[in-house]
Amino acid sequence: MDMALEEARLAASRGEVPVGAVLVRQGEVLARAGNRTLELNDPTAHAEVLVIRMACEALASQRLPECDLYVTLEPCPMCAGAISFARIRRLYYGAGDEKGGAVDHGVRFYASPTCHHAPEVYSGFAEAEASQLLKDFFRSRREE
Ligand SMILES: [Zn+2]
Repeated sequence: MDMALEEARLAASRGEVPVGAVLVRQGEVLARAGNRTLELNDPTAHAEVLVIRMACEALASQRLPECDLYVTLEPCPMCAGAISFARIRRLYYGAGDEKGGAVDHGVRFYASPTCHHAPEVYSGFAEAEASQLLKDFFRSRREE
């Protein structure tokens, strides 16, 4: 999660929403990324989607069944879906996201009958730090 936080800080320094993600398989880091939606002009370039794409490419597989994903913020509906399609084993997230989350808030995608694979979910890792990064980021944007 420290590495994911580092990616979130790097994202903030690029002017991106500070969310970072890391994909791990058996203790080995396969991919790490922060949000890049502005840089890539791509609304799907969330940290989770980016690490899934990188890891799938590295493993030449569309599924990541032995992989665990660490992300600083509760995944949105798109990312929750991508994590499910990638068959990721465990999801560890930092701060909950009442407004945009889709795991423990909103659509609660993994509990829905149309979800065909749900990862094990663990939350609250470095929660204070992850949410402070977001608060600072949005505060500084309002002041601009
Ligand atoms: Zn997302």
